[in-house]
This record gives sequence, structure tokens and C-alpha cells, in this order.
Amino acid sequence: MAEDYDLPKGDLMKGKKGLIMGVANHNSIAWGIAAQMAAQGAELAFSYLGEGLERRVRPLAESVGSKLLIQADVADDASMDAAFAEVEKEFGTLDFLVHSIAFADKEQLKGSFVENTTREGFLSAMNISAYSFVDCSRRAAKLMPNGGSIICMTYLGAERVIPNYNVMGVAKAALEASTRYVARDLGPQGIRVNAISAGAMRTLSLAGISGGRGMLSQGRAFSALKEDTSMEGVAGAALWLLSDLGRSTTGEVVHVDAGFHMVGLPDGFEA
Ligand code: NAD
Repeated sequence: MAEDYDLPKGDLMKGKKGLIMGVANHNSIAWGIAAQMAAQGAELAFSYLGEGLERRVRPLAESVGSKLLIQADVADDASMDAAFAEVEKEFGTLDFLVHSIAFADKEQLKGSFVENTTREGFLSAMNISAYSFVDCSRRAAKLMPNGGSIICMTYLGAERVIPNYNVMGVAKAALEASTRYVARDLGPQGIRVNAISAGAMRTLSLAGISGGRGMLSQGRAFSALKEDTSMEGVAGAALWLLSDLGRSTTGEVVHVDAGFHMVGLPDGFEA
């Protein structure tokens, strides 16, 4: 529940309504962000994938007073039409959107990228992990007549080669580029669009990557801070970007990874 995280309370999001897409369970990054938004007074709607997840997401949503819980499969236009129609009916307008969604077939997330990547696996990862962000942003922007803020979640595998991350790295590169293109298009409407590049965190998605545990331990060992990326750190960056504190920032990829991304060689290296 929200109390498990040490999140600052306040009213930075008071009067703001947001849609959180991508909570699967208590460990989901989207949940940490949602809990932080709620602790700052936001009114939240949640979308989740498939009936199987409802029993996990409903108690979380109810614990932060949310009454709007909607099924939405980002790969299915009819499902997306229905979900956003429901948000419009219940909320009227939106102030922010959190896109925290990714998928690639497990078989694509191991071994040689060049040998193992199939057309189907490539297109499905791109569709769900990158195109969906463009689609969600377009739909959300229609509900943001007063401007707003949109974020998505990415990883260093977009910029550098991370073993086994493979097709997801390519999808994240597309997601980061999409962040900039969407930011430029929606900027004149006062809508800011940013990505958070989080370090490895213990979630369902990480479990799907071969050697995911190694990504965690190596992330910690290589990081400047010598620690795991915390949910509080990611949620804090989200609060900055989604609230008026972030008012001049758009089209940015913000690294929240304990400084993992900027280290070139491991400790102990001697020339
Ligand atoms: P998670 O498994 O909790 O969340 C992923 C979510 O994507 C789930 O809620 C799942 O239901 C949803 N999803 C998948 N396919 C979908 C579809 N077709 N329609 C709608 N929803 C769909 O894992 P997470 O780690 O919280 O992942 C959230 C985001 O953070 C992802 O974009 C992920 O790539 C990114 N990220 C994760 C890490 C990490 O180490 N865990 C690091 C950096 C970035």
C-alpha cells in the first residue's frame, strides 16, 4: 500500500486529475508514482490490462480514494476508445497522464539480439512499448484543454547495449524519440511531455528479462551512489515533472538511476 513508501505529503497536485496506466501490482513503478500523486492531493483514475489484474489493482486504487478503474489494452483500439470515453465521461478533463507500460515476448529478451529477434517480436514490442505512448498522448491531449503533463518510463538500454534487453532497448529508443516529437507537437497547447529513465527495479517486467537480477546487482555496483534505484526517487522525479514545479521542462529524458548511466568504467579499473 501507499504507506510502504516514504512519500512527502502536500498539495502540489491538489485540484489535478490524472490517469495512471500500467499498475499491475504493488511493485509496479506506476503504483509508486500514483501513491506520490495521491499524497500530494491528486484525483486519480487507473487503467489496467485484463480482468486477471483487477483484483490486484482495485485495492490499491481504493486505498488512494480512486473510484475510476478501467480496463485498457493499448494494443486494441476498441479497448482504448472505450477507456478514454470512460475517462472523459467521469473526469471531463485531465491534467496529467502516466504511461508506464512495456511488453516484449520473453523469448526476445535473451541471448543474441541479431539472431533471436523475430519480425513478430520486434513489431509487438514496438507496438505496445513505444507506439502506445504516441496513441495515449494523442488521446490524453484531447482531454487537456488547460494544458497538462505527460510522462513515460524508459531505461538506459535505449542508449547503450544492455545484454538480453535486446528488442526492448530498440523500443525504448523509439519511445524516447517519440517523447521529443510528441513534446514538440503538444508544446503549443501547454502540454509538457517527458520520460524518466529509471535504473533497474524489482518488478514483474524485470523478472521477464533473462538475467534481470544481474541488471539489479550490476546497476547498484556500477552506480555512483552505490545503491538501488528507489521507488521514492522515481516518484519524486514524477512529482517534479507532473506538477507545476516542472513547468519549463519538456522533451527531456531524466535519469533516475543512482548515477548508473554516467559511469564509463567500473570501480577498480586501472589504466
Ligand atoms: P510492471 O510489470 O509492473 O508494469 C508494466 C505494465 O505494463 C503492467 O501493468 C502491464 O499490465 C502493462 N502492460 C503490458 N502490456 C500492456 C498492454 N497491451 N496494454 C496495457 N498495459 C499493458 O513493471 P514496471 O517495471 O513497473 O514497468 C513499468 C515501466 O517502467 C515499463 O515501461 C518498463 O519498461 C519501465 N522501466 C522499468 C524498469 C525496471 O527495472 N523495472 C526500469 C526502467 C524502466
